[in-house]
Amino acid sequence: MFATLSDRLASTFKGLRGKGRLSEADIDATAREIRIALLEADVALPVVKDFVAAVKERARGEEVSGALNPAQQVVKIVNEELVAILGGETRRLRYAKTPPTVIMLAGLQGAGKTTLAAKLALWLKDQGHSPMLVAADLQRPNAVTQLQVNGERAGVTVHAPEPGNGVGDPVAVARGGVEEARRTLHDVVIVDTAGRLGLDAELMQQASDIRDAVQPDEVLFVVDAMIGQDAVATAQAFLDGVGYDAVVLTKLDGDARGGAALSIAKMTGKPVMFASSGEKLTDFDLFHPDRMAGRILD
Ligand code: GDP
Repeated sequence: MFATLSDRLASTFKGLRGKGRLSEADIDATAREIRIALLEADVALPVVKDFVAAVKERARGEEVSGALNPAQQVVKIVNEELVAILGGETRRLRYAKTPPTVIMLAGLQGAGKTTLAAKLALWLKDQGHSPMLVAADLQRPNAVTQLQVNGERAGVTVHAPEPGNGVGDPVAVARGGVEEARRTLHDVVIVDTAGRLGLDAELMQQASDIRDAVQPDEVLFVVDAMIGQDAVATAQAFLDGVGYDAVVLTKLDGDARGGAALSIAKMTGKPVMFASSGEKLTDFDLFHPDRMAGRILD
C-alpha cells in the first residue's frame, strides 16, 4: 500500500513548528511529496506538473498561523486545488426545455456503458422521471440482451431492434428510439452506443452519426477509472472524434485512487458528472468533487 498524501506531508513536516511563512526548502520538500503521491494515483504527468506549480505558488504566499500546523495548511491548499480542478460544484444534468431529454453514451468497449445506462435510468426513475433505454450498440453480440435484462431489472422500457435483426443500422435504431419515446411520453431517453476496443475510426464515425441523428442534450463519455494513464488519451480521442459534455467514471469500487478523474477534468476541461461504483444497479451517484479530492488525498 502506498503512503497517503496526508501521511507523506505529515512526515515531511514532522518537527517543523515554525511560525511565519514556509521556507523555500519546506515548500520544495512538500512539492516532492505531492508529486510522488499524485503520480502513484496515476495522475498524468503534465497535470501533476501544473498542479504542483499551483500549490507551490499558493504555499509561498500563505502565512503559517492560526489553528493549522504547516502540514494541515498545505493539505488544505492541496484539497482546495483538487476540488477546483475537479469542477468545484457537482455538475447537474441539463434537461431539454421540450421533452424528451436525449442522453447519449459513448466510450470504449468494457468501460461500463451498458451497465451505466441501466443505472442512470433507475436513478432517473427514482427521481420521478420516465426514462427509456435505447439499445443502439449493435456491435457487441450481447449488448442488446444485456440492456434488455438490466432494463427489466430497473423497471424501465427498452427500445431495441427487432429480434433477428441485430446487425441493423444503429443510427436508425437510435432515431427510432427517440421517436418512440416522444410518442409514448417518456421524458428522458438514454442511448447506449457501440464501444470500441481501441480507438477505432469507423466506430467513432458511427457514434458521430448517431449524435447527429438524435441531437442529444447531453453526450456522456463513459470511462473506466482503472485505466489510469490511458484515460487522458482515450478521453481526448473521444472529445475530438465524437465530442461530449461531461464524463462518467466507472469501476470506482476498484482500487483506483482517482487519478483518471483529475487528469481528464484538467486536460479536457469537461466535468465529471456521475460516478459508478459496482455491478449492482444502485451502485451509482452524482460525482462529488470534494469526495474525490478526499480520495486522492487519502
Ligand atoms: P460496455 O461494453 O461499455 O457496455 O461495458 P459493460 O456495461 O458491459 O461493462 C463491462 C463489465 O464491467 C461488465 O462485466 C460489468 O458488470 C462491469 N462493470 C460495469 N460497471 C462497473 C462498476 O462500476 N464496477 C465494477 N466492479 N464493474 C463494473
